[in-house]
Order: sequence, then C-alpha cells, then structure tokens
Amino acid sequence: MKNTTLVDTYAEIKRAQSGNIRSVIRSSVLDLLSLKHQILGAKKELKTPRIQFLYFHHIFKDELEKFERLLEYLSKDHIFISHSEAVHRLINDEIDKPYISWSSDDGIQNNMLAAQALNKYGASCCFYINPASIGLTDVEQIKVFCKNKLEMPPVAFLDWNEVEILQSQGHEIGNHTFKHDMVSKLTQSQFEEDFLKADAVLTEKCGPINHFAFTYGKFEHFTKPAFDFVLKNGYESCISASRGCHINGNGKLYKNTVFLRRDQIIADWKLSHIEHFLIKGAQELDYATNFLPNSLV
Ligand SMILES: [Zn+2]
Repeated sequence: MKNTTLVDTYAEIKRAQSGNIRSVIRSSVLDLLSLKHQILGAKKELKTPRIQFLYFHHIFKDELEKFERLLEYLSKDHIFISHSEAVHRLINDEIDKPYISWSSDDGIQNNMLAAQALNKYGASCCFYINPASIGLTDVEQIKVFCKNKLEMPPVAFLDWNEVEILQSQGHEIGNHTFKHDMVSKLTQSQFEEDFLKADAVLTEKCGPINHFAFTYGKFEHFTKPAFDFVLKNGYESCISASRGCHINGNGKLYKNTVFLRRDQIIADWKLSHIEHFLIKGAQELDYATNFLPNSLV
C-alpha cells in the first residue's frame, strides 16, 4: 500500500522523537557498558548455550542494511531456530548450543522486508499479529489504531495475502490479541472473548495457532488467569517482552508453567548496544526465568 501520509522510514520516526534527552542519556550509558564488556572480554558469553528470544516491531527500508548486518553478526555464534523448535527444546531440556528465536509484533507491513533478510539466513520468525489491523487501508482508521494502540505514527499494515506469503516462506503466525488491548485492563471474560475471537480468525486464515504474545509486554500488562486461559486452550507458549533468556538443565518442563522472556531490538541501534543486552542475558541466566514471575503468581 502506498500512501504519503503513512510513515515509511525509521528516520521519520526518529525525527518525531528527536530532542528526547532520555534517549541521549540511555545511549551514553550503553556506550559505557559496551566498553566494559570489551575490556572484560565478555563477548565470549555469546557462545553460552541458551535460548535467546529476540523481537522487533519494524524493519523500515532505511533499517534493512543494519538488520542484515546484525543477522550476519549473530549467525556467527548462534543457531537460528523457529519459535516452535525453541519451545520444544526448552521444555524437553535440549539446549545444547546458543540458539536465537526471532519474532515480531504488530503486523507492520515492513515485516515483509524483515522476512527477506531473515530468509537469507534461514531464520524462521514468529509474526504476532492482531486481526483487527491486518488489511486496514483506511488512513483515518490506521491513524487511530497506531496512535491509540501502538503509540506510534501511522504505518501500513500487512494484508492477509502477505501473511500467507510469510507462512509460505516458513515463518509462523502468532496471536497478539484481536485489537491490541492491554490485557490487564480487561476483565477476564473480556480477555477470553478477545483471545478466542483472534484465535478463530487466525486459525481460519492461517491454520492452527500455537503461540501467544500479550500486548505491551511488561508483567504488569498481563494477568495469571489470562496466562492460564492461553495454555488451557492448547497453545504451546505464552511470551512477554521482558528481557532475559532461557536455560534448562533440570529435565522436562510442564508446558503450562513456562513463561517466555524476549529482548526487543531496533535494527537502527548500535550493534554494540544490542550485544550488551545479549551478554547481560547470558550472564544472568537463571532456571527461575523459565516461569511466571512472583508478581503474577
Ligand atoms: Zn504489540
């Protein structure tokens, strides 16, 4: 879809956020932390056997080159595996190497560009989508959805034909709720209705759906009854956007207790900053990270 009122470069997103003092401070702190890793030789931590889930929202055309460079870099120390394989390995205690499993949230149209790059590296990605935004063409509706649900300028979304193409390339499709509401602000019955509605549409269009990513991603945006409902409905996994990666080493896990963590990346970030988050995750590996945090139990 071509429309000049929709944002289609990351430069435009950055312009909208320019002058943000927090991001300047954040960048300087990450520069220092990256330097510390270099001095201490911490890069070797990237070779630690573990499962690292990484996700992005967008790969705009001006981010594509950096994304490819990131994939090239990460492929040196990691094996890229699908969400389904990652969940299987975690639950069955088969984490013998450093693995990365990719996903993306919100169904932004430039996921097609991301897939192009991922395909070059044989990396299967799980695209978590909201049926309410797939195929939207009305610019006013897009503006409202992006502002109210995604807190970003208006962008084009995938259509169902593109979703089918992603699947035909070996990527998985996941449930990200029907219309991107914050789960913790819904009653349990509202959540169940929304979840089942999204599941019904996605199953009809894409076949069986096995993975759920709740919206906004922090623990306080989700609830324990919602978690139980997702797993009770036969899903294989439920994933947050809280940083951290996974190790097992203690035998098989009961899948209805496993709660996944992911690290967000923006392809435009400095490689050393992304590397910092990966090293930190590897250094802080903890069996307890496989389960619901105390705040949700
Ligand atoms: Zn989202």
